[in-house]
Amino acid sequence: MLKLIKSIIYEYLSYFVPEKISYEITGHCKKCGKCCNYMYSMDTYTEEEFKFMQKLFPAYKRFYIKGKDEEGNFIFACKLVTPEGLCSDYKHRLRMCRNYPAKRIFYPAKLHEGCGYKVNIKSFEDYLKEKSPDKNKTTADNHN
Ligand code: SF4
Ligand code: SF4
Repeated sequence: MLKLIKSIIYEYLSYFVPEKISYEITGHCKKCGKCCNYMYSMDTYTEEEFKFMQKLFPAYKRFYIKGKDEEGNFIFACKLVTPEGLCSDYKHRLRMCRNYPAKRIFYPAKLHEGCGYKVNIKSFEDYLKEKSPDKNKTTADNHN
């Protein structure tokens, strides 16, 4: 009976495995300013949508449409970034700026070329290894 309950719980938990996978971020900011000068939005496809977002969230008025990439996606930039790539209002920067690069995202992650951070994508096997009680065993241990 206990076995059955356990398997039901594991089955239920398995639906949440993708959400439990976190990207591991290592490295540090090199203060190049690329992330403030070249941004993408997951859900803004037209100028009207962007204007609407700015009305909903006045803090977004700091952003403007800089252009489009080769696939037609908008590239946004922030008016507050200095020519040296620094934030001119660092103390009041948005939460999204404070949290960049995000530790948990639900779509493929890509950082700017030359960014000092690195996104280490964890595979399902890595996730299992972390949960394994034998995770601290070395290869030599396993062969003994
Ligand atoms: S792109 Fe990376 S290194 Fe450059 S400012 Fe942004 S976080 Fe820092
Ligand atoms: S508020 Fe500052 S940190 Fe945020 S995007 Fe603008 S310049 Fe960059």
